[in-house]
Amino acid sequence: MHIHIITDLEGISGVTDINQMEFNTEGYEYARKRLMIDTNAAVKGAFNGGADTVTVTDGHAKGKNFIEGMLDKRAVNINLIDLYNQDMHKKVNALMFVGTHAMSGTMNAFLDHVQSSVSWYNYYINSVRCGELVQGGAFFGAYGIPVIFASGDEAACAEARYFFGNIQTTAVKKALCRNKAESYDLDVCEKEIEQNAEKAISLIGKIKPYKVTEPIEIQVDFTRTDYCDNASERPGAERIGSRTVIKKIPKITDYLSILL
Ligand SMILES: [Zn+2]
Repeated sequence: MHIHIITDLEGISGVTDINQMEFNTEGYEYARKRLMIDTNAAVKGAFNGGADTVTVTDGHAKGKNFIEGMLDKRAVNINLIDLYNQDMHKKVNALMFVGTHAMSGTMNAFLDHVQSSVSWYNYYINSVRCGELVQGGAFFGAYGIPVIFASGDEAACAEARYFFGNIQTTAVKKALCRNKAESYDLDVCEKEIEQNAEKAISLIGKIKPYKVTEPIEIQVDFTRTDYCDNASERPGAERIGSRTVIKKIPKITDYLSILL
């Protein structure tokens, strides 16, 4: 059984301030350490639950957040591009998210956004407003692969259950406002990620993959018209408003195509 894990940084335990997203700061270095702890807890849980292969993609920014040598030795780190080049998305049995965050515009959510906090205002697939959880879920779902576990703040976990059903989730913090959160006990977070990831394995075959009807239509509303000027020049993009671009895709074949 092969489990794939996509990580992000905003929803990692102990990450409670927007300043921790700034590279090369003390806060960011701490966030990376916590990223390894949460990720390894999920890896351990997946193996405990019966997985024989666990692959992990460092999904935040350019995917260079993992600390060298700290990933559980049994797991294989696959960068985002190789993940799709190697057709990994067709081979795995289930997907897990670690450190995820809620879609842009979510109330009481820590660092809610979709792709760019600066330029992307709203994102839709087939007129359903959604975020990065659904982008991953829909992409893997097109190949019959379900999402079975997510960790992040309370809002991210609620969003994961809203879209994917009664999956296993671990909330590691609660937002105080968009840019600050209150952390839960870090040892408890680690233990719960491990235990819930283990329990999640038994959901394989019970949780349906998140399927979107093809052909699909992607829509992005930008925050400013100049961002829309640039986006409307991308292949396949059609500008339908001063700040809105749509793109029609006959079939989901690669992850980047569903971004815009
Ligand atoms: Zn991120």
